[in-house]
Amino acid sequence: MRPTDGHARRVSESQPFSSPKCITLPQLNSTMAAPNWHDVPLDVIADLAGEKKEKCGVFGIAGPADSVERCYYGLYALQHRGQESAGIAASDGNVITAHTGLGLVADVFKKDVLRELSGTLAIGHVRYSTAGGNRKCNAQPILEEYVAGQVAVAHNGNLVNAARLRNEYQQHGHIFYSTSDTEIVIHMLAKPTHQQKPDPLAHVLRHLQGAFSFLFLFADRIEACRDPWGFRPLVIGQTRDGYYCVASETCALASIQATFVREVEPGEIVTLARGGTRISSRFFTEAMPAQPSHCAFEHVYFASPSSSLFGDTVVDVRQKMGRRLAIESPAEADIVIPIPDSGRSAALGFAKQSGIPFEEGIVPNRYVGRSFIQPSQHMRDLAVQMKLIVIPEVVRGKRVIVVEDSIVRGTTTRGKMLALRRAGAKEIHMRVSCPPIRHPCFFGIDFPTPTELIANGRTVDQIREFIEVDSLAYLSLEGMLECFGKPADNYCTACWSGKYPIPVDEQLSKFGMERHQMKMFE
Ligand code: SF4
Repeated sequence: MRPTDGHARRVSESQPFSSPKCITLPQLNSTMAAPNWHDVPLDVIADLAGEKKEKCGVFGIAGPADSVERCYYGLYALQHRGQESAGIAASDGNVITAHTGLGLVADVFKKDVLRELSGTLAIGHVRYSTAGGNRKCNAQPILEEYVAGQVAVAHNGNLVNAARLRNEYQQHGHIFYSTSDTEIVIHMLAKPTHQQKPDPLAHVLRHLQGAFSFLFLFADRIEACRDPWGFRPLVIGQTRDGYYCVASETCALASIQATFVREVEPGEIVTLARGGTRISSRFFTEAMPAQPSHCAFEHVYFASPSSSLFGDTVVDVRQKMGRRLAIESPAEADIVIPIPDSGRSAALGFAKQSGIPFEEGIVPNRYVGRSFIQPSQHMRDLAVQMKLIVIPEVVRGKRVIVVEDSIVRGTTTRGKMLALRRAGAKEIHMRVSCPPIRHPCFFGIDFPTPTELIANGRTVDQIREFIEVDSLAYLSLEGMLECFGKPADNYCTACWSGKYPIPVDEQLSKFGMERHQMKMFE
């Protein structure tokens, strides 16, 4: 199944530019005994990105001679959706070439690499590993060759029946080279009985369960596909020179001055023909779910505030959440400050509704490199201190309302609250712009296991004690849903409500397949 010389050229994969960061967080135990936070290293306190992980982002464009460069810019705009690996596959109409690597888009794609990729059709991917570990073999787009020719695939989401399907194919002798859930789709496409179907791609998609926004690159076209529940976003845009493109979020369209045309509908396949100025549509499923299940957490945290999502502008929705929070759970205070960056819009909404002044009390320094790059512990500590800056002059002696988008483990939140106390905040009232997260996600978001979720089995007051704040309140589920433009039953809320839109295997974990592979070597 791997491409071979003479039939397909695969540009070499980038080596990781550094080792993964490894930090040890203080563990919660059942009695919630508090670790001594004054002894906790600064890099733990200050790690702003440690609890909830982005998923993946996809971008594709058909037609222009500089498709690869535009794809690069599109991926750059989607970097917030995944920082572990990046890749682009391009077709010149006959041959698909690809380059993938671990790291950020700018690290993986230097000028010389971009020059090696050519073609008027390009798809790209940024990844956070929701299924399979952070290994080079799991970087996407996956490029393979089968009986019908070459195909590259980029996937945002998580297939809940991938492990079962993979097992079935392995029983028939198929060999998988990655631990990602995405690879099974290519094996299914290659199956001879599937190839005999009038529309093999539609036939394969009908067998998949879970969340998928896929881009398939064939030598002569791009196929953009979205699962029947519409969990993950996928939008179509058009450039000023008339070429169609597809992306996970509208912010990527803006990065190449393309305008939003419409969403790829749940259950739809949109084909971008090679010329790029025409699209066509078909639906792969006849029995659609009664309602879509758009991921509500995209609005809470993941999507860029500059994007429009499921018919709403993200920044507007987040401000509405903040306003609603201020109505549901007011507090007497001197200032409202956000936990940057995703809490900013909700904090602004809270401040506007309550009339309490909005201040920037915690400032991230975006220009500090990843702390593990620094050569010594001392340098790492210094780098991390610069990463999260609490401004004492803003918070000292004040009653502070802190607005956070969500609390997952609670450990980093607690660290941030300690930093505020150290800076002299007199009272801290935490307000969270979504309900308590009590359940895992099986549709593409990587939360910790349920036992690690601070809200699992604990009351709000117990959580308040743990994070050491004077008061704590969450936005209600109905309050959150009222901030969205579509009816409440159009959204997945499983991580808060425990009501999963489709049946899931509770044993499923993102490393399920990886563990299975490792067993072979034990
Ligand atoms: S469980 Fe939560 S994070 Fe996962 S798709 Fe549903 S709303 Fe989104």
